[in-house]
Amino acid sequence: MSKEVNVGGVSDPHYRYRRPALRVKEELRGTNGQRTVVENIEEVSKAIHVPAIYPTQFFGYELSVSARFQEKTKEGGRTCAVLAGIHSAALLEKVMTKFELLYVVCPNCKDGGTRLSVSKKNGVRIKCGACGKISNPRSVNKLEKFMVKNPPPKQQSGLEIGANAAQSKSELGAIGSVGGLESVLGGQSPSKKESKAKSKAKKKKEVKEEPEAVEDQKELDHKEEPEEPQRQATPREKFLEFIKSLRTEEGKSFDELQIVALCSELDRLALVHSLSKPDRLKLSLSGLIDTSLAPKTLPSQFSALRSVFLKLAPDRHAKLTFIAAILHILVTPPEGLEDQKSNKPQSLLSYLPMILMALYESEVLSEDDILAWMGSPPDLDTWAVSREVAVKAKKVSKELAEWLEAEDE
Ligand SMILES: [Zn+2]
Repeated sequence: MSKEVNVGGVSDPHYRYRRPALRVKEELRGTNGQRTVVENIEEVSKAIHVPAIYPTQFFGYELSVSARFQEKTKEGGRTCAVLAGIHSAALLEKVMTKFELLYVVCPNCKDGGTRLSVSKKNGVRIKCGACGKISNPRSVNKLEKFMVKNPPPKQQSGLEIGANAAQSKSELGAIGSVGGLESVLGGQSPSKKESKAKSKAKKKKEVKEEPEAVEDQKELDHKEEPEEPQRQATPREKFLEFIKSLRTEEGKSFDELQIVALCSELDRLALVHSLSKPDRLKLSLSGLIDTSLAPKTLPSQFSALRSVFLKLAPDRHAKLTFIAAILHILVTPPEGLEDQKSNKPQSLLSYLPMILMALYESEVLSEDDILAWMGSPPDLDTWAVSREVAVKAKKVSKELAEWLEAEDE
């Protein structure tokens, strides 16, 4: 049997919602260039009740590559998602998890038994079979536009919806669901003619040298919204963009699901940009903490993100790295502001004790964590800051350390 994973990256081994792991094949072929094929995209999509074109398109958007869903042919060809370029299975799983956190896991009760409802009027909404709530996705993604243009096929009668949802079945009538391949095709009707014609043309041209190209292929990618050529966004910009996209009410901290989404986005960025664990922490802090605001807001910025940091720095080792990463953002002006604030690098460093105190009070760091960092040689922090800064940081925190020690006695 093929390997299974929990929907939405949930770690609970008894979680009810599972799907097959992605079966990924890298193809280094001559004529089409390098590409990656997700061989079981349809099976996976079926398990989470979405048309296979949605995650396929999502891969394309998230990885900034062309992506298409290849349908089964009469000759028994395969259905699969075809992505330009080589992408590891680990990375694709991360992207898939992000998709599930956005569109499959219920934002209200975290249940995985949901259906997507897509309409021009209401956009994309998630209907939950467990709690009955209809929610907007957690964050805005351009995939929603694509979904509205390509709504799921109408639900077929007699289709199993899930035990809890039975009573609200009439309400669920309009929801698109699993369906077979046929209905997925049906949902595509607006563009069908065009693509048929296209593939016919292709057939004539390529039938001899390229047997695979005769399959009924559907280009799903960026034709409609050509992206203006632009410089590659930095990981920090991408992360900030993602944070911005989370639908969080003003002044409210992230909820549990958003934190999972944040961490999985960090994982994804770390994979895409080959970031080490410490660099991933640096990135997360530089995205979450705004050092261009008044410095006295720093301690409260940190305590407000308590639950995020607990997740990002779960153990002693990670916490020591975490403190060094804090030093880094205190002495490094935010990207883009390098010139404006010919930042007196040491000045924010004087806020370190207050930040450590805030983290101590919100129980992100224990006194042992802080004292362990104080007692560690400054050279351990030099991956993040210069030795000079590390020495200075320990100097300014001395009083705090003494206070913590006295508390202990
Ligand atoms: Zn729910």
